[in-house]
Amino acid sequence: MNVDLEIAQKAELQPITEISEKLGIADTDLEQYGRFKAKLPLKYINEDQVAQGNLVLVSAMSPTPAGEGKTTVSIGLTDGLNKIGKKTMAVLREPSLGPVFGMKGGAAGGGYSQVVPMEDINLHFTGDFAAIEKANNLLAAAIDNNIQHGKRSVGLDPRTVLWKRVMDMNDRALRQITIGLGGTFNGVPREDGFNITPASEIMAILCLSNTIDELKERIDNILVGFTFDKKPVFAKAFGVTGAMAILLKDAIKPNLVQTLEGNPAMLHGGPFANIAQGTNSIIGTKMGLSLSDYVVTEAGFGADLGAEKFFDIKCRYGNLKPKAVVLVATVKALKFHGGVAKDQVKEPNVAAMEAGMPNLRRHITNMRKFGVNPVVAINTFPTDTQEELNRLKELCSAEGVRAELSQGWAKGGAGCTLVAQAVVDEIEAGKNDFKLLYDLRLSFEEKVEAIAKRIYGAARVNYSAAALKMLKSLHENGLDTLPVCIAKTQYSFSDNAKAVGAPKDFVLHIRDIEVANGAGFLVPIAGKVMRMPGLPLVPAAEQMDLDSEGNVIGLS
Ligand code: ADP
Ligand code: MG
Repeated sequence: MNVDLEIAQKAELQPITEISEKLGIADTDLEQYGRFKAKLPLKYINEDQVAQGNLVLVSAMSPTPAGEGKTTVSIGLTDGLNKIGKKTMAVLREPSLGPVFGMKGGAAGGGYSQVVPMEDINLHFTGDFAAIEKANNLLAAAIDNNIQHGKRSVGLDPRTVLWKRVMDMNDRALRQITIGLGGTFNGVPREDGFNITPASEIMAILCLSNTIDELKERIDNILVGFTFDKKPVFAKAFGVTGAMAILLKDAIKPNLVQTLEGNPAMLHGGPFANIAQGTNSIIGTKMGLSLSDYVVTEAGFGADLGAEKFFDIKCRYGNLKPKAVVLVATVKALKFHGGVAKDQVKEPNVAAMEAGMPNLRRHITNMRKFGVNPVVAINTFPTDTQEELNRLKELCSAEGVRAELSQGWAKGGAGCTLVAQAVVDEIEAGKNDFKLLYDLRLSFEEKVEAIAKRIYGAARVNYSAAALKMLKSLHENGLDTLPVCIAKTQYSFSDNAKAVGAPKDFVLHIRDIEVANGAGFLVPIAGKVMRMPGLPLVPAAEQMDLDSEGNVIGLS
């Protein structure tokens, strides 16, 4: 049996009413979804508390394909902070079904650092993804309906429609399809396709909106396509923003659950980390900061992508100021960046680990460019040797950062008190002063260059002909002023996944630019982008079952 599921199923959960009581939430305000899940109304956001709160971002060095354990460390750190007497909440993303049934598995932490009920969280949870899917698909239906009924046409050229349908499942066969076949009664034939729900712009919008009014404004601003004379057409033209908003009336409320140790955790939203911001909702983060003294949150992939987007997109739109950053490092990832093949990273090798240090070092230096000196959490695995762990702590100390072992996977909060104390010390020292990397008034090219040169280590940025053409259209239509959300591989600072360590003086290739005008960012594409993943040869789904008593088996 899978160890995460086994631990989660053995846990004695507290009724959600007890968790909410600790947060001072009135029973009448709690919207319960069964005994262990609840939604909280937006009125619990208190901007004064938000401004005073201690927001801690967990990010990581460049990962290996197995993932370095950011979610696991975030949950362990939450329990660790509570153990040392700090009222702390984890605020995290909701998992998508695609990875659950595909390759990666669930996203509710691991070992003794999990959020529960793990089965529900990893499956339909409170239905937020379904609501986002429906809102997304209502707009899709309205677009094709508008094309069908020439009388009310907004003049959209059907060949330019950018809006895709979505579904929360890995299903590559739906990536490119033809719709509207079968004659005049059945629509206008055109090429279309499905994305997976976390890749929907509605997901990004839900997560970047501070209020319901802002949600609607952002939906109105979605770029849907172009007219025959190349003028942009926005979602507002189709008149279904209000209807989309009502589909999202519950999804916009954050979900309260608990960690295995009975500490509160809020899970809300789950946008992709490449073409979107890769972190939970602003609303969830603000509510966490309103209800507890510390909030631990996570941003997807390594810090070059996750933390940069967290800061320059989410913190910008939410007016959030993180007080501390934790970089998750593993001995295995350091060896990987030191040139060891991924199937040999479990072999002891201090020299290779040292050779991988430039990767972690650059992430450390990068965080200081945002005004924050990071703490390193060494997520320990049974294969790490004492010699490797000691040496890693020395190497971090030479960089002027605290590095502590994070043993939440094996020991829960008790294994994370050292990291917790390091975070508290860093915050109480009061030297961190968060700032954004770039000014919004810079041009699109200058913004991309700021990130490419200062965070990735590139010498320059190169644009393909397609990217330049798109940029020209954006300039002409005044759509070029938004922050940027670069989509590139997470395995390297560069756009070449094989360039491990800390490559420098490379050229960052932007092959295309996509527009998330509603969410509020432009997406320079510096690599392959998969908006609808496929299932692997042997999907994780094949190991799962439901027994006669209704218990879930084999979910990882
Ligand atoms: P990320 O959030 O960085 O993608 P996760 O926290 O989801 O990573 O962890 C990825 C996988 O690794 C999970 O299956 C988790 O149980 C496992 N894992 C994380 N930390 C450890 C550890 N210290 N020892 C063993 N397994 C771990
Ligand atoms: Mg994660």
